[in-house]
Amino acid sequence: MSENSLHGGIDAGGTTFKCGLADASGNLINTHRVQVTTPEETLAAAAGWFASNARSGSLKTFGIASFGPIDVDSRSASYGTITGSAKPGWSGMNLRGHFADALGLPVTVDTDVNGALLAEMILGAALDCSSAAYVTVGTGIGAGLFANGGFLGRPSHPEFGHIALRRHPSDGDFKSVCPFHDDCLEGLASVRAIRARANAPEDLPADHPVWDIAADYLAQAARTLTLSFRPERIILGGGLMLAPHLISRIHKAFDQQMGGYLEHVPSSELITTPGLGDNAGLIGAILLGQQDAQ
Ligand code: ZN
Repeated sequence: MSENSLHGGIDAGGTTFKCGLADASGNLINTHRVQVTTPEETLAAAAGWFASNARSGSLKTFGIASFGPIDVDSRSASYGTITGSAKPGWSGMNLRGHFADALGLPVTVDTDVNGALLAEMILGAALDCSSAAYVTVGTGIGAGLFANGGFLGRPSHPEFGHIALRRHPSDGDFKSVCPFHDDCLEGLASVRAIRARANAPEDLPADHPVWDIAADYLAQAARTLTLSFRPERIILGGGLMLAPHLISRIHKAFDQQMGGYLEHVPSSELITTPGLGDNAGLIGAILLGQQDAQ
């Protein structure tokens, strides 16, 4: 590919589409945020930005790392289409088809967490790991899992946010924010759940009791991941993990819950925050497109 070729990608989140262009070496050279409104408005604004910022013919590959549920089976007729009803108005929207038509090139689509996981494995906190999990703890909770040379859960994707948890002893009366489950990870430990109990996470003092409850639930999630598929690294990202004291509480809770059962690397090495921070999803989206083209 020529030195002037560009590689595009979108980290398609529930509230913001982060759009980016990278050069042939993978360096981000231009980024743009589109607020999510209606599907039509959002997709048109994002496609318009790429059309105005990538010279004609210079855009060589394109990837989308999206919120879900979404069809990620490249053999499916509805590949790249949002499925289910998690976000009102978006069910049935074909992200891949829209951008392939608008930009005139093939488009690769995967989940936001698989995108972030790929970026972390190539450039970030899971560099040199042969297996890893990326869990996003934001408005919702989801996980991407990689082992044996590929993403797990194909031809679909995991829905790790909805695994069942044991209630924390002082959290028995809290009403889960998940409309489907009274006991799931997303219903009890997402940013929405923290907000429903107390306040916006960024406004909560470090000694607020809700942090120990959140740490207990996220440690249960890490325990389930470790005991079911033994990833070399578990990366916890998303808005809730921006609280700097949370990760060490999770390590402590994880060690207590494991009860010394397994020999494993110290929990502070096993369970980490993202190496690429907020950019993991966007860099991952661009890498998804580049990998597919190879
Ligand atoms: Zn649920």
